[in-house]
Amino acid sequence: MNIGTFLERGAKRNSGAPAIVFGDRVLGYPSLIDRVGRLAAGLRELGLARGDRVLLLMPNCPELVECLWACFRGGFVAVPVNWHLHPDEVGYIVDDSVASAVVLSEATAHVAGTLGGGVRVIQVGAVGATAKVCEYESVFADHPAPVADTQADDAAWLFYTSGTTGKPKGAVLTHRNLTAMSRAYQHDLDAVPDGSVHLHAAPLTHGSGLYLVPTTDRGATHVIAPGTSFSPSGYLDLIERHHVTHATFLAPTMLNRLVAQAAARDLTSLRSIVVGGAPLYQEDLHRATAAFGPIITQMYGQGEAPMTITVMPADEALSRPGSCGRPFSTVDVRIRDVDGRPVAPGADGEVQVKGDVVMREYWHNPDATRRTLEDGWLRTGDIGHFEDGYLYLTDRAKDVIITGGSNVYPREVEEVLLRHPAVREAAVIGVPDPDWGESVRAFVVASGVTASELIEYCATRIASFKKPRSVYFVDELPKNATGKILKRELRHTSTR
Ligand code: AMP
Repeated sequence: MNIGTFLERGAKRNSGAPAIVFGDRVLGYPSLIDRVGRLAAGLRELGLARGDRVLLLMPNCPELVECLWACFRGGFVAVPVNWHLHPDEVGYIVDDSVASAVVLSEATAHVAGTLGGGVRVIQVGAVGATAKVCEYESVFADHPAPVADTQADDAAWLFYTSGTTGKPKGAVLTHRNLTAMSRAYQHDLDAVPDGSVHLHAAPLTHGSGLYLVPTTDRGATHVIAPGTSFSPSGYLDLIERHHVTHATFLAPTMLNRLVAQAAARDLTSLRSIVVGGAPLYQEDLHRATAAFGPIITQMYGQGEAPMTITVMPADEALSRPGSCGRPFSTVDVRIRDVDGRPVAPGADGEVQVKGDVVMREYWHNPDATRRTLEDGWLRTGDIGHFEDGYLYLTDRAKDVIITGGSNVYPREVEEVLLRHPAVREAAVIGVPDPDWGESVRAFVVASGVTASELIEYCATRIASFKKPRSVYFVDELPKNATGKILKRELRHTSTR
């Protein structure tokens, strides 16, 4: 079983339409298959062996798609990384995954200088005079490599997700997981009818990038929006120009930004918009439905069970406010209390999921795997309950902040703040934000430092989207008897 063979299946269904469109560049399925095969062969020639990890650190571009398929077909493991990460954060993932190669683009070329000597560095676009970096096109071999004979449980995608315990962990997704995810997508989210044109604007290095797998399997055309920043008007231009039928995946923040500009556009080609990764508030759903029609499907998933836990069909969303839908047909979902016991019907508890989409393990981390996977059940860390078979998420045990569709784990920001000599205590929470869904707010016990100095301090040490947007100074942080900071109380704390 090799998920990379979906390219040929796609090519068979596709009737000559492009596989990838990016600006003026167009790549058909036959060319994509040829390039991906030669890239896989080139990576072999560079010394990579089956199972080796290849870090992909680029904004969306066709090369990112090629690398992904070359990894699958070559039997390498793709390690997708958010290109906004700070070089120290990238370095951690390179070391933890023991990556053999890192693929950069011009936007991330600065990272090359920070990488250790043991890793091959490949760069898309013009490369400066440095012996250490191979230019991307020079990696391609003359002849394609045969598709690697991978097994169903071999790793294909190693997705780094942070946790409350601090350092990011790598969720190992296998060829079996991605096949199951693909089936779930086609069965419950979208059958990808012939002639579908999918527009990708969310980072393909996010779990939603995996939606490329089921859509390629069905021979769709993929229009890739330029990846360095999200432009609502540019996005709507692409829909009109390419007669896009599917907005493949949008974070709620992106959808909200499109709504304001949708009037006066010809969006008649659009059949479906999939939104997920964070709650879509009912008011925003109403506004978006008025702008685009009743075509907004919501889904709930996470990196450990990629993008396929529950789905809320477009025609049911308005009558089920606040729900993120019903379980995908390929998974079982249950609710458990803190001790792992069943809860009363309708009561809140931890959402747990089981099925072929659930990751194999956390990479080289048996303790975290044991804490998270039990008898095949994945503990999502999300709190919720069922009503009439529909799931309602009420809280996040993991405390993750989702700002503009990107996850920020409070612990990461707190750790940076605590490194500042003037800061004695720090706690970070998400607060509602009309544009970003949530924004990062820090509470600190500190003296002799200003809010803007602390924000700047964070901005130079972690990805910019993680830095606090606001810092509140307090005399002490609210704590319970065992000294655990009471974040709920902070949410109600008045400012000084
Ligand atoms: P990620 O692994 O980046 O996809 O983040 C997964 C987390 O995002 C989940 O565990 C949830 O806490 C949250 N999430 C994803 N989809 C939704 C949704 N539709 N509604 C509410 N929260 C969501």
